[in-house]
Amino acid sequence: MGHPRGLSGGLLAVVALVMGMLVGGCGGARLIGTEQEIELGRQAGEKFERTNGGLDRDPRRVSLADEIGRRVGAVAGAPPYVAYPYEFRVLANDQVNANAFPGGLIYLWRGLYDQLGYDRDQLAWVAGHEAAHVARQHGVRRIERALGYELIIELLLGKDSQREIAGAVAGLTLQSYSRDQEYEADRIGLEFSHAAGYDPTAALAVLQAFRKIQGKDPSQLELLFETHPGNTARENALKAHLQRKGWSGRYYRPSG
Ligand SMILES: [Zn+2]
Repeated sequence: MGHPRGLSGGLLAVVALVMGMLVGGCGGARLIGTEQEIELGRQAGEKFERTNGGLDRDPRRVSLADEIGRRVGAVAGAPPYVAYPYEFRVLANDQVNANAFPGGLIYLWRGLYDQLGYDRDQLAWVAGHEAAHVARQHGVRRIERALGYELIIELLLGKDSQREIAGAVAGLTLQSYSRDQEYEADRIGLEFSHAAGYDPTAALAVLQAFRKIQGKDPSQLELLFETHPGNTARENALKAHLQRKGWSGRYYRPSG
């Protein structure tokens, strides 16, 4: 970020975004409207995609992402959630990861497939976890909080801050979520994968698989390790939710 040459598209997006904020921000709590959110997320996502390996075209991985994405996306985009145009893509990157952009663009990284043995149920929970970040608007709210009215006014006054704001918007979409947001995404991820017809207990297998690579290169992992809650605590929270729901499966059978 910060190379002036490539920023004109991003800058236009920011200007559009700010106009949208001023139009839509007076009456409600939300500063960024759904249209802007989708457009902003798409621009940030595609920029990210270009600089992180591009798209993976492997038919097996792509068809799995399509199938899981269609089913999880249908659930995540149903009431009470916003009907975002969910799209699941495979990133040609061998790191074990997944990430989501506001508005519904979600990347399952190539390395994730090997790590999870191409297991549908496990991939579905990861997809559900990422879709939950979108559905609960964790990313876009962070952008709203970070930009705030001061920066918007500065931008409108035409100071030299445009470039920093454009960079900030792109960067903000890649930052870590809070612990609470991660727990919420874990829990809603269970609900999405269950409602989409997958075994929600596979979430526990995902945590175990990630535990194996913990320590090797934790900096790679947006999904589970960086500022995410500790693994045991997450596992317990997942089990508690499965227990509450009475959902059992291949990897967990609630007692009582
Ligand atoms: Zn997450």
